Amino acid sequence: MFNGNIMASDVLLVKTILVVTSTICSDGYQARTMNQINRRRIDEIEFPRLLGDRLCLDFANSVESPLEEPQEFLTDFEALARWGRHVGLLDDGQVVAGVRAERAQPDLAARLYADALDLRTSIQHAFVAIAEDGEVGDDDLAGIQQAYLQGLQQCQLLLDSGRAQWAWACSGDMSAVEYVLWRVAQSAADLLTDGDLARVKTCGCGWLFYDTSRNGSRRWCSMEGCGTQAKMRRYTAKRRAARA
Ligand SMILES: [Zn+2]
Repeated sequence: MFNGNIMASDVLLVKTILVVTSTICSDGYQARTMNQINRRRIDEIEFPRLLGDRLCLDFANSVESPLEEPQEFLTDFEALARWGRHVGLLDDGQVVAGVRAERAQPDLAARLYADALDLRTSIQHAFVAIAEDGEVGDDDLAGIQQAYLQGLQQCQLLLDSGRAQWAWACSGDMSAVEYVLWRVAQSAADLLTDGDLARVKTCGCGWLFYDTSRNGSRRWCSMEGCGTQAKMRRYTAKRRAARA
């Protein structure tokens, strides 16, 4: 737990994370270089592509084909830690520390994993409602708020090049995975408070994305995947109609 006194080693950790924050996640969330890789193999886990354009939406998309044949990628605590690395929030050492912490404190890890799935459900419900012109449920809003405020309690306001930023200052065993959840909750809170919500959309496959196209016309999570499939379906239907 962060107790107000940051040790020298913690400051190092904080600085490292600040650098990660400013290079990867300035302006919300930038994972384009990784998005362009079809599927990225990380050890034994193949994670889905990062097409949401916001960290919270990629977290929501950690279930593939949610509407038809859901395939879970956050299968356990270790997968959650590895997903943190997949999106560029953690390095190898932090993943290893997280896995070691899980072995030392399985109950705590199980609770954190359950919290992660609850947060994902809140994010999925909230942004699907927004994309479909529905109303965000109080429970979902409260779930995001709770995760965000919980993480904020572990942060410290630090000056970096003359500007203050919230820096992760927790050094507990589970710190790395807690950090991932906080960043996801922060991304969701930022999108809810600051984002252009008309650009939050759902693809036909059920995935969420933030449309950053100039004219706001993006319809698919990926043009070469869902977009092409939809085109082929339209083409087949047309040919069938012409033959009839
Ligand atoms: Zn799709």
